[in-house]
Amino acid sequence: MTRVRLNQLDSELQAIATEDYTFHNWAKTFQCTCEIMFQPSTESQIIKIVQLAKKYNKPIKVFGSGHSPSDLACSRGFMINIDHMNGILGINKQDLTITVEAGISLHKLHAILQENGLAMSNLGSISDQSIAGVISTATHGTGAEFGCLSSMVLDLTLITANGELINCSSNENSDLFSAARCSLGALGIITRITLQVELAFRLEAIQKPYKFDTILSEWDNVIHSAEHVRVWWMPHTNDCVVWRANRTKKSMKQAESNWLIERGVGVHLYQFMLNIARYRPSVIPSITRFMFETIHKRPLHVIDDSYKVFMFDCLFPQYVNEWAIPWENSPQALKELDVFINTSELKVHFPVEIRFVDEDNIWLSPSYKTKTCYIGVIMYRPYGNPVPYKKYWKAYEDIMRKHGGRPHWAKAHGQSAEQLNASYPKFRDFLNVRENIDPKGMFLNNYLKRHILLEKPLQSAAML
Ligand SMILES: Cc1cc2nc3c(=O)[nH]c(=O)nc-3n(C[C@H](O)[C@H](O)[C@H](O)COP(=O)(O)OP(=O)(O)OC[C@H]3O[C@@H](n4cnc5c(N)ncnc54)[C@H](O)[C@@H]3O)c2cc1C
Repeated sequence: MTRVRLNQLDSELQAIATEDYTFHNWAKTFQCTCEIMFQPSTESQIIKIVQLAKKYNKPIKVFGSGHSPSDLACSRGFMINIDHMNGILGINKQDLTITVEAGISLHKLHAILQENGLAMSNLGSISDQSIAGVISTATHGTGAEFGCLSSMVLDLTLITANGELINCSSNENSDLFSAARCSLGALGIITRITLQVELAFRLEAIQKPYKFDTILSEWDNVIHSAEHVRVWWMPHTNDCVVWRANRTKKSMKQAESNWLIERGVGVHLYQFMLNIARYRPSVIPSITRFMFETIHKRPLHVIDDSYKVFMFDCLFPQYVNEWAIPWENSPQALKELDVFINTSELKVHFPVEIRFVDEDNIWLSPSYKTKTCYIGVIMYRPYGNPVPYKKYWKAYEDIMRKHGGRPHWAKAHGQSAEQLNASYPKFRDFLNVRENIDPKGMFLNNYLKRHILLEKPLQSAAML
């Protein structure tokens, strides 16, 4: 396959191109060097890049902030980053909608929504991602009555492998819309998105410690005990904390802040102890108990703007795995995980994070037609050092699979295309849309070939 050199590009593309660009994800667990990385600021520049890729039979992968903990955003062909396409295209305060360029970060989006008295109804733990990246993987927050972030999309525009601009919504190109609201970047480059938002609101969040077996025995009540409920279970113990948040009109209340405890112990000492534990994993349960007693057991009460309250400090790089299972199966799955953790020789990090998401009708959303409990496991990489996690993942994935689980698309998982096809009723419909819109596989990469292609392509750009 012939390389494309910068001097083969016209001056407009040369100005936005970097040769041999090395991309790595946030946790530095995956990286790739692509032939050329482009940072366009207009749709017409993207169309030119697509035409160039078509001419030279190059695959294209678009990436956002690189927060996916897998090789989902990697490619050795062309890569495109649309961070410069981050403007607001329209705000409708009557209908509570906002139309944005798809490269906008959630941080910037929150600030603009706030200025206009609006807010997103639900969020995940961080806001560093681009809106296109977030919706391409069905990123979720927590709340039994709240769908994943993709479910807030009312319409979107993408540029296809033919260089065409296509709009889709529930009324226009509706099959494409069902596929594109969680597309994994496999359908084209999303350039514009309209979101349903709501009037700006405050959240009152209260976090308290509980015994985990008590929480499991009252599971249905716990799920509905607030608008947004998150459980952090400390594996190797019977302790957990439950974070509950509700909309409120009460006045602001800042959480008491103590740098020494929160950063000194919560981040620096914790990272130091986990690094020591690489040589003596048997101390991990004691570290967990210490951290629970010192930090997490303390009750927390805060009232603030919603987008600030939804945010959590994700500390430092980590391996993560997270699957969605029907929420009625989740207590049993968690009990089995507890048995595995207590009976195997493995020592694992906290927390196991448990969140709830309402069902939706997005073909590849892990919550497709399923009220979902997300169960996330984590192994931190103190100072970027490796820690063993594969045996933990294997046992965890076996349990999730047994309980009808679907992996979070952004995270590195071991589910084959065939297994995924069996758990998603609309999997083949997604593949048909993909095949029609991108028959040569311009937007495929290794992750997608591994996890979504049932029949491997004979000759395509993605074979690079
Ligand atoms: C610390 C941390 C916390 C996290 N918290 C949560 C959480 O609370 N809940 C949750 O569900 N997930 C969470 N995630 C996962 C994260 O939300 C997803 O990985 C999200 O996709 C990252 O967005 P990004 O902009 O970094 O996209 P990238 O990782 O760069 O890309 C993700 C996918 O989106 C595609 N894509 C990006 N831009 C476009 C575009 N313009 N057009 C078409 N496709 C595009 C890419 O091709 C790729 O397939 C977290 C990740 C980290 C590292």
